Amino acid sequence: MSLKELKFCPYCGGAFEQREVVGRRRHVCTACEEVYYQNPVPAATALVVNSCGELLLGKRSVEPALGEWCLPGGFVEIDESMEQAALRELREETGLYADSGQFVGCFYQNSMYYGGVIIFGYRVDVVRGEPLAGDDMQALQFFSFDKLPPVAFESHRKLIELFRQQLAASL
Ligand SMILES: [Zn+2]
Repeated sequence: MSLKELKFCPYCGGAFEQREVVGRRRHVCTACEEVYYQNPVPAATALVVNSCGELLLGKRSVEPALGEWCLPGGFVEIDESMEQAALRELREETGLYADSGQFVGCFYQNSMYYGGVIIFGYRVDVVRGEPLAGDDMQALQFFSFDKLPPVAFESHRKLIELFRQQLAASL
């Protein structure tokens, strides 16, 4: 699967044509004249460390990157903040609960599936729950930073490296 090209206007079902609008070629509906702006999709991840200083990763049970390790996370819903999304995804994918998250950083990633994704990372201190693989995950494991498995998604690798540096600087 790859990024699907929109053929029809999502508002009225009219046919799109490509027109120059605000500096680049965009989809414009030939029926209702609506311009369909395409933007990166925001996603949020949770960076959780245990008492040994190890990082929680999940093994994916769905595409993309089926069977590979990554941070717990997912797309931000329309009525959520990035932080709320990170906490919700953590809950859904790992069964771990937290009250808040601390912003670590964010990275843009080009995605075959979604065009562009902006991944936000939050450091999360778990207050409740035991790790149990849920949505989109087939396994969960804590890894020490010097023995991480290959991690799917460039943005996750960058977040983990940034987080590692922040942890080292705070010691
Ligand atoms: Zn239309």
